[in-house]
Amino acid sequence: MPKETLECSFCGRKKSETNLLIAGLDAHICDRCIVQAYNIVQEEISTHKKSDLDKDLSLQKPKAIKEFLDQYVIGQDFTKKVMSVAVYNHYKRLLQPKSKKDDIEIQKSNIVLVGQTGTGKTLIAKTISKMLNVPLAIVDATVLTEAGYVGEDVETILTKLLAAADYNVEKAQTGIVFIDEIDKIARKSDNPSITRDVSGEGVQQALLKLLEGTIVNVPPKGGRKHPDQNFIEIDTENILFIAGGAFDGIERNISKRLNMQAVGYGASQKGEHLDKENMLQYITPRDLKDYGLIPEIIGRLPVLTHMEPLGRDILRLILTEPKNAITKQYIKLFAMDDIKLSFSNDALDYIVDKAMEYKLGARGLRSLCEAVLTDAMFDLPDSGQKSLKVSKNYVEKQLVKTKLKKLKAVS
Ligand code: ADP
Repeated sequence: MPKETLECSFCGRKKSETNLLIAGLDAHICDRCIVQAYNIVQEEISTHKKSDLDKDLSLQKPKAIKEFLDQYVIGQDFTKKVMSVAVYNHYKRLLQPKSKKDDIEIQKSNIVLVGQTGTGKTLIAKTISKMLNVPLAIVDATVLTEAGYVGEDVETILTKLLAAADYNVEKAQTGIVFIDEIDKIARKSDNPSITRDVSGEGVQQALLKLLEGTIVNVPPKGGRKHPDQNFIEIDTENILFIAGGAFDGIERNISKRLNMQAVGYGASQKGEHLDKENMLQYITPRDLKDYGLIPEIIGRLPVLTHMEPLGRDILRLILTEPKNAITKQYIKLFAMDDIKLSFSNDALDYIVDKAMEYKLGARGLRSLCEAVLTDAMFDLPDSGQKSLKVSKNYVEKQLVKTKLKKLKAVS
C-alpha cells in the first residue's frame, strides 16, 4: 500500500489523522483504537474477576460448611455449628444484590471465639478460609497499638489481608481476618479515665471502625505511613472478622455471675446442674464486658461461642483423624523416601497419655511426634530400611531422651 493511503483498519482514519499507526500482518491500528481496545479489555477483565469472585463464593449451605470443618477439626461441634451459620449468613449478606437493598440491613456476623490456646481457634478460621477460597490474615492483637504509638497501627491488619489476597483489592474486601489474643487488649481497670490505656481501650476504639465497616486507607506492601505514599482504599464492610482469645480467668466472672443469678432466681430450686469443669459454655457478652472489652466492640462481634477443652479422646482422634492429621503427615514424609511408616495403637495411646500428663495439649502432640521420630528421620533415608513400625516401646525409648518439660515450654 502506498504510504499516503495507509489507514487504521478499525476506524478508517488516514495515517495523517493519527498520532501513531501500528502495522500488523495485513492490517493497521491507530493510537486511538489501541486506547479504546485497551479499555474494552480492562472492562472485560474486571467483570470477569467479579463474576469469578461471585463463583468462588457460591454459597455453601451451613451443613456443607460444617461437614468440611469436620474433616479438619475434631470435636468442637457446637462451635462448628455456630460458625457455619455465621459464615453462611455473612456471605449471604455479601452476595445480596446491591440494587435490592431495602430497609432491612443484615448486620455483620463477626465472631468471638473464647477458648484455651491450642483448642483449634486458628484452625477453624484457617479451614473456613480454605473452604471458601477467600484470603485470610491472622494477626495478633498484642502487637497493635493506637495510631501514633510504637507498634502496629490497626490498618496493618488490612495490609496483611491485602498481601494474602495477592494485592487483589476485591478479593481482600471479602476476606477473613482472624484477630488472635483479643483478650490481651482488654481494658486493664474498670475506670477508663484515669490514665490513657495505650494497649487496651485505645486499640479497641481503633479496631471498632474496622469491624463496623469503613473505608480505610491502607499503606501498600506493609510500609510505614509516609506523606506521599499512595494508599490503597479498602472497604471493610464485607470482611469477616473472627476474634479469638483465651480470656484466662474469665471462668471466675462467669461463676460469679451465675452464683449471683442463683441467689436471685433460686436456681437451686430449678435444679440446674452447672458443669464446673467447663464454665466457658455459659459465657455471655456480659462476661466479656466484665473482662474489659468495651461494649461497642462486643456489639460489633455479635456471634459469641466457646471452644471445649480437649480431652484424652479428642487428642487421640486429632493424632489420626483429620484430613491432614499429624501421623498422616509423617507417613507421607517417610513415604517420600520409600519408607512405610506405621504406628501401633498403644504407641499412639502412649503419646496421648504423655500429652495429657504434661498438659501439652494438641500442639504438644506434634512436638511429641517430632521427638519420637527425629532419630528415624535422620537415620533412615540412607539406611536402606524400608519400613518402621512405631511401637509403644519405641516411643518410650525415644521420649526418655527428651526432656518432656522442655516440650511444654515450646508448645
Ligand atoms: P488456638 O488458635 O486455639 O490456640 P490452634 O488452632 O492454633 O489453637 O491449634 C493448634 C494445633 O493443634 C492445630 O494446628 C492443630 O494441629 C491442633 N488442633 C487443635 N485443636 C484441634 C481440633 N479440635 N481438631 C484438630 N486439630 C486440632
